[in-house]
Amino acid sequence: MFRKSPHSLPRSQYGGARKRLFIGLMAGSCALLCLVLPAIWIVPCVGWAGIHPSLPLLSGVVFLLAIAAILWMCLGLVYHIYTGRHLPGIARIRGFTIRLMFPLMELLGRALGFRREEIRHSFVKVNNEMVLASGVRAVPDRLLLLLPHCVQLSLCPHRLTQDVGWCARCGRCPIGGLLRLRDTYGFRIAVATGGTIARRIVVQARPQVIVAVACERDLTSGIQDSYPLPVFGVLNSRPNGPCVDTLVDVARLEVVIRHFLQLPPRPGVEGL
Ligand code: SF4
Repeated sequence: MFRKSPHSLPRSQYGGARKRLFIGLMAGSCALLCLVLPAIWIVPCVGWAGIHPSLPLLSGVVFLLAIAAILWMCLGLVYHIYTGRHLPGIARIRGFTIRLMFPLMELLGRALGFRREEIRHSFVKVNNEMVLASGVRAVPDRLLLLLPHCVQLSLCPHRLTQDVGWCARCGRCPIGGLLRLRDTYGFRIAVATGGTIARRIVVQARPQVIVAVACERDLTSGIQDSYPLPVFGVLNSRPNGPCVDTLVDVARLEVVIRHFLQLPPRPGVEGL
């Protein structure tokens, strides 16, 4: 019942981040909310007694239910993250956490001295494990590989934001290799210059799964914006600093893509 999730991903692919950071911050944020709610209740319920004598009791019951819901949500999500088991209503809880709780978790983490980067790495790792645990798969033309424009060599004369097919596949950046993967597997591939363009691409492609390559900041916002669409985030590496000539491990992307297309891993190649 409490066996560790079979979908656990190696820390090394997420800057060494552990999911226990995410779990700790989520538990801390839920505890904070549970402390704040009674304080919110006490202040107005004094005045509410003047309107009707039973209003303070009724509102107290509502606040207690809210606290119980937060605790249930927190425990359910921790159990799901730890074991990878599906629970009824977990998709809604995941949405609530991704969209509403994560900003609070980030604030709490910063206040406790954690680096923003570390918190986001942990978030991407947990998100990816939850996407894997959901068992979602895609047909090739509804799997979208979304790339940031910084993966393209900055000196490349070809503009790929309109059509990635204009790449001449010279081999000086990862785009050529990724196009060869696209030709092999038939998935869709797009280069986005920012959040607005990425959202437009997603609306047009209507993907079943998005595999997104970006830094932890863009992956975090992309995962939040795209919910409820499942986004599997792959961190790029930045040997030349942020946003310039970034790299991505093409072999690892192939493993991820084969997984979502329900293809078995290649012999001798490590799994996810
Ligand atoms: S592989 Fe394509 S995108 Fe990259 S530098 Fe060569 S032509 Fe430009």
